[in-house]
Amino acid sequence: MKHLIPLACCLLALPAFAGTDAGALVVVLDPGHGGKFPHDGARGRHGLVEKNISLAVAQKTKALLELAGATVVLTRENDEDVSLAERDRIANEAGADLFLSIHCNSMELGEDRKVTQGVETYFLSPDPTDAEARMLAELENGGPDAVPLPRSASAVEGILNDLALGQARNDSAVLARLVQNHVIRGTWATSRGVRQAPFLVLSGTRMPSALVEIGFISHPQESRQLGREKYQARIAQALSEAVRDFAGKVLERRLFAKATTTPALAAPVPAEPSAPAPAPAEPAAAAVVEAPPVNTAAVVASPGGTR
Ligand SMILES: [Zn+2]
Repeated sequence: MKHLIPLACCLLALPAFAGTDAGALVVVLDPGHGGKFPHDGARGRHGLVEKNISLAVAQKTKALLELAGATVVLTRENDEDVSLAERDRIANEAGADLFLSIHCNSMELGEDRKVTQGVETYFLSPDPTDAEARMLAELENGGPDAVPLPRSASAVEGILNDLALGQARNDSAVLARLVQNHVIRGTWATSRGVRQAPFLVLSGTRMPSALVEIGFISHPQESRQLGREKYQARIAQALSEAVRDFAGKVLERRLFAKATTTPALAAPVPAEPSAPAPAPAEPAAAAVVEAPPVNTAAVVASPGGTR
């Protein structure tokens, strides 16, 4: 029962992230690409390169979130080539509450480059929304030394079927929707919707994760916008609001579930769930717990994955 008071404080404090018993919200932002060709991403007009835009937006987002009290880690701080696996490792080791990868989209053919624009946000799935989503995932997964895309999608399915990750994956869809909504509201860009695809950079993270394509660097007007600092700041503002929204909606729900269920579940043992217990056999049936705790920092360190 003694959990209830501190957790109530956490819930009240979550929108600002700071000073909670749970510790600060930990956000890992992943600026797509980096380093030299072919790892520098897509290219637009006037020398615009995806790696630079993704980094600028990530840095601006980081600054905003830190002002709100979150702990923010970037998978790269400058123009360096970081492998997809390394990005995942950084997120997992940081104990991130969420992972957001930032990219720019691009069309190859001249006619398509002129007309295709807009924002889309992805969460991990073995089944791409459509052929375009599949091609995009192949592109973003690409590079000479990239891990090959799982042929049969079985590798991704294996990850998705990991019981410990089940709720994190469900929450990824929520995160993607919030990101998409906020970016569209903040920029008035064309919405291409929330989509799914087998992105490798999302497949190795153990927390809710999404990948946002903040616009088409290949489109004449959108490209110009993406290169403007003011527009980048608007996107950063939108992304930071999405993260705060996510923290409010999802993490709060988990903490609340924890606060209301832990005493009963933990009755035979002391209440402080400091170390993961061996495979909990019954919690899923013992109470309607909507979410197992997934990296909600210090407070909720109890065993995850009951479904
Ligand atoms: Zn990209």
